Amino acid sequence: RTVTGVTQPRTTTTRPGMITGGRRRPAGTTAGVGAAGGATASSGQNSVLTETKNKISRLKNIDSKLANMILNEVMIDGAAVTWDDIAGLTFAKQALKEIVILPALRPELFTGLRAPAKGVLLFGPPGTGKTMLAKAVAQESKATFFSISASSLTSKFVGESEKLVRTLFAIAIELQPSVIFIDEVDSILTERSESEHEASRRLKTEFLLQFDGAGSNPTDRVLVMGATNRPQELDEAARRRFVKRIYIPLPEAETRRNLLTKLLSGQDYQFSSSEMQSLVRQTEGYSGSDLTALAQDAALGPLRSLGETLLDTPADQVRPIQYQDFVQALQTIRPSVSPQSLMAFEEWNREYGAGI
Ligand code: ADP
Repeated sequence: RTVTGVTQPRTTTTRPGMITGGRRRPAGTTAGVGAAGGATASSGQNSVLTETKNKISRLKNIDSKLANMILNEVMIDGAAVTWDDIAGLTFAKQALKEIVILPALRPELFTGLRAPAKGVLLFGPPGTGKTMLAKAVAQESKATFFSISASSLTSKFVGESEKLVRTLFAIAIELQPSVIFIDEVDSILTERSESEHEASRRLKTEFLLQFDGAGSNPTDRVLVMGATNRPQELDEAARRRFVKRIYIPLPEAETRRNLLTKLLSGQDYQFSSSEMQSLVRQTEGYSGSDLTALAQDAALGPLRSLGETLLDTPADQVRPIQYQDFVQALQTIRPSVSPQSLMAFEEWNREYGAGI
């Protein structure tokens, strides 16, 4: 018997306290077209895009090739991540609501002293949900979302990166409210050194100039969100612009439990609550993306155990994912963040973090 397309656990001897799964995640929670203004229906996508293109074509001094590149590669459609998709990080979500969402939804209340921050930095180990948070912020604040990794600015757009930054900010202002998300922001805002390449020095200067420009008109609603795994490399000038600096740590026990449950939902799995407890304990030090990799590997366990018979076994005869599969996966999927680097994050947080 199948329920919403997923095979029920074959065994019917579910003991009390057993945790089992068989529900599929509702369709559309992570997909959908969320282009400018948070439009979600694909039928509306073309008109939104056409309207966007029209607006941009009216902008003066804009290189149309770059503008198209930004529309196609930097402005994100389908970025529909909601707060609920993100496990844990309650304090970060709360802070972002206050700093970004409420001012975006009620701009008339947030003026003068209450003017919202123009720059927010999310820092912490890789794979902990920084990108997801930025996408959720864009979604929840109904802002146009631009996402670019700083390393692609320096590699993919060589020679054009300053111009691209200028064009990006001009378009973001035109399509405001906007969120410009810059991943690996440290790679353009590193401490100036003697050996600093002339090109990267110019890019940095241009970026800071545009950042300041976007904040100079108090009614403009353009937020720059930076993410970094190397906050130590940001210099004072960069730190100062990211007024709010939010630490995104590794998931705590409760969050790991939520995330594992979330990952398993929609799968055929079966293990006891004490096994879940033990799994939560053994995954201390794992990031959200480590946990995802772990669950993906464990999910292959039932297939691996079929050996040669895999090719002939009907789908409904595949056993549920069990605790043992995770024990096996724990051998190969190790935490990616070292204890030393964690200490460095915590130290930086104490010194420069928002204190949350
Ligand atoms: P970062 O930007 O911090 O490097 P991402 O936001 O790109 O990390 O997360 C990488 C992947 O790890 C996500 O696509 C998701 O599958 C998983 N992940 C990480 N943190 C979380 C979380 N808190 N909740 C849900 N999934 C997470």
